[in-house]
Amino acid sequence: MSKIYKNCQSCGIPLKKDPQGGSHNADGTKNTMFCSYCFENGQFKQPDFTVDQMKQLSKEKMVEMGFPKFLAGFFSKSIRKLERWK
Ligand SMILES: [Zn+2]
Repeated sequence: MSKIYKNCQSCGIPLKKDPQGGSHNADGTKNTMFCSYCFENGQFKQPDFTVDQMKQLSKEKMVEMGFPKFLAGFFSKSIRKLERWK
């Protein structure tokens, strides 16, 4: 059984807030680790991103989703602990 993640393991946004309802693997099955902003059809959408670039994108997305800026900033600080950046 695969681990269930609450947050995207690339950008940290809550997966249930993903407007696409999550991303997909290359074979069309659902990917439970990454959101549709970061990952689709088995590939990262921003394969060359650094942690800092991802922090910036994540912050913007979270503010777009209606999260307060301070919370988005707080969230983005934990991004480097996510699976993609280990
Ligand atoms: Zn993501």
